[in-house]
Amino acid sequence: MSARTLPGMSPPVPHDAARTRVLVIEDDDTIGRHLHAGLRGSGYAATWCRTGSSGLAEAGLTRHDAVLLDLGLPDVDGMDVARHLRADHPDLLIVILTARSDEIDVIAGLDAGADDYLVKPFTLSVLLARLRAHLRRRPAGSPAESAPIRLGDLTVDPASRRCLVAGGEITLRPKEFELLVALAQRAGAAVSREDLMAQVWDANWFGPTKTLDVTMAALRRRLEAAAAAVPEGRPRLPHIATLRGHGYRLEPPAG
Ligand code: CA
Repeated sequence: MSARTLPGMSPPVPHDAARTRVLVIEDDDTIGRHLHAGLRGSGYAATWCRTGSSGLAEAGLTRHDAVLLDLGLPDVDGMDVARHLRADHPDLLIVILTARSDEIDVIAGLDAGADDYLVKPFTLSVLLARLRAHLRRRPAGSPAESAPIRLGDLTVDPASRRCLVAGGEITLRPKEFELLVALAQRAGAAVSREDLMAQVWDANWFGPTKTLDVTMAALRRRLEAAAAAVPEGRPRLPHIATLRGHGYRLEPPAG
């Protein structure tokens, strides 16, 4: 389906916004809350960290598409955070948010590895427009996003939409598969119900999450049945842990 925009129409929100993970590193409570809520309201899967060290840890744990980085952080200088992020994640989009409007700071930020900067105060709509513009230029589905994920005897391949247990392909319904991908891409990390609903179902979803429970139960049953059917003995599959009041965590098999 080709996306056409008639003259005078506002550009559509990218339909894959929910797959776009944005990390906000900002210590200011008001700005951080505003950005986090604004990004989520626009369909992005957003995470908010208040310090440079927690932001770097989160970036190391979970693949993100973009980072909105405040320069004035309480623990680590934002320039150093930008340098580390760029060294570890060459494809990451880094947008610096700065109150320092001096040209020298902007140049230093870009030299440190940032792709763009916004001088505070800025409006959410300008930030979102910049984000869309940058993400449009990026190839759809970065290699990291579409690469097969191997966890013990389970292989999930988003590109071919195949799921293998001990080398044998198993059939999952579309939402079961997408749910598994969403968890496997963040294996070892807690994923909130809201993030899963946004990534697998609807970016603008609000309401009960019964459909998530039903799909999760079905996914667990299918993996269990596939494991039991392997003739060579019990395969090593990841475990999907339920985190009460939060969501789920896909735990890779030991070893
Ligand atoms: Ca700050």
